Amino acid sequence: MKAALVTGGAQGIGRGIVQHLRNEGWRVALFDLDNEAAAEMQAEDPDLLALTVDVSKEEAVDDGFSRLRTWLGDNPLDLIVSNAGIADPQTGAIEELALADWRRMLDSHVTGAFLTVRAGVPLLRQAGGSVVLMSSTRALQSEPDTEAYAAAKGALLAMSHALAVSLGPDIRVNCILPGWIETAAHQKSRNRRTPHHSEAEKAQHPAGRIGTPQDIAGLVAFLASDQAGFITGQRFVVDGGMSARMIYRA
Ligand code: NAD
Repeated sequence: MKAALVTGGAQGIGRGIVQHLRNEGWRVALFDLDNEAAAEMQAEDPDLLALTVDVSKEEAVDDGFSRLRTWLGDNPLDLIVSNAGIADPQTGAIEELALADWRRMLDSHVTGAFLTVRAGVPLLRQAGGSVVLMSSTRALQSEPDTEAYAAAKGALLAMSHALAVSLGPDIRVNCILPGWIETAAHQKSRNRRTPHHSEAEKAQHPAGRIGTPQDIAGLVAFLASDQAGFITGQRFVVDGGMSARMIYRA
């Protein structure tokens, strides 16, 4: 049975990835900052290893990996999905952006991915495993007042090809750039709600709808499979075609 670690795996896209991999028969461990959300995942699926870990903190990640190694026993780790991070891209006007908030954003995404992959590489090498980093279409295009998030997501995109070159041929590394993915139904129970979208919101996507965590999870599973054995160092935009649309304002 293959084993995966998904960071930020207790809610949102990460939760969708965890559930998809479990349905495909994987053993899955998750790290998440939110204690309540992680405990809910553990209660729903006792075969998971759901740990409260802040991936931006070195000691917390090292401690998480020590528990992960015990849980794996003699089995290798086949996949790391580095998905954790502050999901709200808005940090306000650049003139008002505090250094602490800039660092918090960069740390949650970029330092988190660095610490997770650094600790995971020895385990992945045993299996010839792979890594998926979660970037965003915001690595390529922007709304105003999103500099810290855009910088973090651009860094993850660049880090993915650097890692692919460094870690090949043992480990493949790819990057997913999601567009608008609706996660309201994938939050911890007290924050969960049924999403509603206007026709205009759906219509701006050539695919005619907003994305779901399952749209991302399916690609993660493919990238981790043997069918993707010749795919590394690549970026995959999953946005229902939204970023392909040319906009002329009359
Ligand atoms: P979410 O807020 O629904 O879930 C993120 C999860 O990560 C939460 O459970 C949170 O507790 C956890 N987390 C945050 N910081 C953490 C940390 N330092 N250590 C451990 N866990 C941490 O967000 P989401 O929308 O599912 O986003 C998941 C990833 O996908 C993020 O990297 C986000 O930037 C990216 N993304 C999301 C969208 C979207 O439209 N939802 C689009 C593009 C990219």
